[in-house]
Amino acid sequence: KLFNEIQELKGNIRVYCRVRPFLSEKKEKQSIVEHIGENDLVVANPSKEGKDALRSFKFNRVFGHATTQAEVYSDIQSLIRSVLDGYNVCICAYGQTGSGKTYTMTGPNGATSETIVFFPLIFLQSLPNGLAVPDASLFPVKTPPDVLKLMDIGLKNRAIGATAMNERSSRSHSVVSIHVRGKDSKTGSTMVGNLHLVDLAGSERVDRSEVIGDRLKEAQHINKSLAALGDVIFALSQKSPHVPYRNSKLTQLLQTSLGGQAKTLMFFQINSDVSSYSETLSTLKFAERVA
Ligand code: ADP
Ligand code: MG
Repeated sequence: KLFNEIQELKGNIRVYCRVRPFLSEKKEKQSIVEHIGENDLVVANPSKEGKDALRSFKFNRVFGHATTQAEVYSDIQSLIRSVLDGYNVCICAYGQTGSGKTYTMTGPNGATSETIVFFPLIFLQSLPNGLAVPDASLFPVKTPPDVLKLMDIGLKNRAIGATAMNERSSRSHSVVSIHVRGKDSKTGSTMVGNLHLVDLAGSERVDRSEVIGDRLKEAQHINKSLAALGDVIFALSQKSPHVPYRNSKLTQLLQTSLGGQAKTLMFFQINSDVSSYSETLSTLKFAERVA
């Protein structure tokens, strides 16, 4: 019900924020997050005092430190189910490395039965039109365990690729696309829906003085594709007649699931420790633009 209400207000884009819990207790005192409400969040600039330090941000939903994975999934369950009604759905996680993107997209243990427990039987359709993604693979699946097995292989490939390049896996986007075809048992009509689960590359700014050559190029590509995604979602949220999908591979890949009848959910992930303040603020400002 909540989803439908918000959808009327917002079109088909929902913007969520999730605050990663502290992993060790003693840091708790240094939190820059002053307030977490259902729909808002207040952060304090550690180098200012009093009211001047505070800045508030509004979201369709905010998940605090204590929110469990099960609570997140139950909130988005109806969105995911709508894939079975023939909708295209795109769920993205944005934030600096270590802010909990992968955790939100795959659960505490990577792809496990907890990840997408809401899937009934799913079937594969043929490839989306004209899409060429080097090294991407497409597999037929019939059951949720089939999907989880593939996601697990994908996660492992991502980690191995990262090690081989002496890089962190956070320097790549991960996109799991599930094409669903269902048959209405009463009418016999066929429905087709797509679900994209997008674990974006870390949004942290890379210090130009520290990176050279391929690493600099890679960082620029990441920044470019994240900015392009932001521009597309911004254009959609403004109901702009021109949506700049063609500015990056990522937005081209997701084009049919961003805008139109498609439903989009962005998770903005933040850390609440003092040392992450500037990255947290930059994530929140990015979110503010599309919210
Ligand atoms: P990212 O993918 O953004 O780099 P991760 O998802 O790997 O970040 O999270 C960083 C660390 O924080 C991991 O050890 C992860 O298990 C932990 N973590 C993230 N979010 C949560 C959460 N909501 N609850 C408990 N631990 C979390
Ligand atoms: Mg990650």
